[in-house]
Amino acid sequence: MKGLNNFIGGEFLGPSNNGYINKVDPSTGEVCERVPDSDALDIVKAIGAASKAFPGWSKRPARDRSVYLNKIADALEARLEEFAEAESRDTGKPLWLARKMDIPRAILNFRFFAERINHKEEMATDMDGEALNYVLRQPMGVAGLISPWNLPLYLLSWKIAPAIAVGNTVVCKPSEITPTTASLLGEVMQSVDLPAGVVNIVHGRGETAGAALVAHPGVPLISFTGGTATGEKIQTMAAPFFKKVSLELGGKNATVILKDVDLDKVVPEIVRSSFLNQGEICLCGSKILVQEDIYEAFLDKFTAAVKELKVGDRHLESTYLGPLVSKEHFEKVQAAVAQAQKEGAKLTTGQEALDIPANLKGGYYMRPVVLKDLSNCSDLHQTEIFGPVVTVQSFKYPLDAVKWANNSPYGLSATVWTKDLSKAHKLAREIQAGTVWVNTWLKRDLRLPFGGAKASGLGREGGDHSLDFFTETKTVCVQL
Ligand code: NAD
Repeated sequence: MKGLNNFIGGEFLGPSNNGYINKVDPSTGEVCERVPDSDALDIVKAIGAASKAFPGWSKRPARDRSVYLNKIADALEARLEEFAEAESRDTGKPLWLARKMDIPRAILNFRFFAERINHKEEMATDMDGEALNYVLRQPMGVAGLISPWNLPLYLLSWKIAPAIAVGNTVVCKPSEITPTTASLLGEVMQSVDLPAGVVNIVHGRGETAGAALVAHPGVPLISFTGGTATGEKIQTMAAPFFKKVSLELGGKNATVILKDVDLDKVVPEIVRSSFLNQGEICLCGSKILVQEDIYEAFLDKFTAAVKELKVGDRHLESTYLGPLVSKEHFEKVQAAVAQAQKEGAKLTTGQEALDIPANLKGGYYMRPVVLKDLSNCSDLHQTEIFGPVVTVQSFKYPLDAVKWANNSPYGLSATVWTKDLSKAHKLAREIQAGTVWVNTWLKRDLRLPFGGAKASGLGREGGDHSLDFFTETKTVCVQL
């Protein structure tokens, strides 16, 4: 097995220590790739290349950088199928999903910021003829970008595109569990002749390569997406350097269903918001709260629909859930289900036998689980499971739903389903979350702020919020 390389200063290089991590294919449980186990030395090299590229890149006109971003998007589009296959293999997600969601959204990230950067304006003020002020918005240098395994290219491109659009150069540390599309992205950067060092990609573990990037004094800003516990470590490491940090962290998202909904219309949507991508999307609604009048009817229809979902071969169009991303994660999710059962919860579905072909028997497959009767006091209503597991609780009044939705350290997103828009607006106002969807889920307008409340994160990215994060303003005051 040849193994992946780091992409530093426009070249593909092996790790300095010659160490590799075995990457396992979650569909089979077999080793399928060797990933550089890079250390601080590789990070220092990458930061060196990025620092060297910064003066030239940051001084280019914005429209030049915009042209590069569009070229990257075009090159990605031309290789969409290859990227989708790599993303599906690394994560286990169905190929149709990577083809339809992950890679198109990554392309859109580059196109969106290519356009946005050409229309960014800044403020100027006139002090009654005495002085004139204007604001300069300037890139900060080398940005450290750290991304997770669930939406690998989509989330990495969400950071790279705005960071380089405004003139920074970047060092990326993708998840060691899903490194392939980041590596292919290096090839794309080469193919469009992006100046060497503007984008650098260093593979490796979080505690070594990731921590070295966060702790390096030459990296003034860190954009991180991943778990809350890791976010806390990153914040602590970055604090002594007064780095600018953006943290997109975990969630425990409520799905609130009021009694007036048309269940036949809403149930398929809730199946999707619960189990898309094996439930491994930070925005999946894992805590379903149903008004008591329709609780039993909802549970029946929902359970029946979930039982229909096909689990198995990621290549099949009919597959809704592929394997979970890794053995370790599979065991963590299974342990959460076992804990819920120990606490008295019952599965309405999830224990039926799996029908997995013999060549995939070593993969990390599980049926989607619906849990009912879990005590309202259970910790499992507060912790992120991040897999195909949902709990269903009933509530009497909408304000009770707010109470249960907010009963968690997290505040990433929530979804409200009702025909009564007045109630929906009130609930949206009361629920503590960075995003509240009403009668829809996962719709993203890239112009709008995205991020989490409470332990779900710090700061906002998206549209001008991203451009603001990746720059620093300077106010210039001129005496007239
Ligand atoms: P993780 O925190 O384990 O890892 C994320 C990244 O951080 C990886 O690249 C990892 O190598 C790196 N890392 C780990 N320890 C580090 C350290 N000490 N210093 C620097 N880097 C380190 O998260 P994960 O398991 O890859 O992803 C799942 C989590 O991500 C879930 O909690 C999910 O909710 C969250 N997530 C959040 C969002 C969001 O937008 N809020 C989006 C996707 C995923």
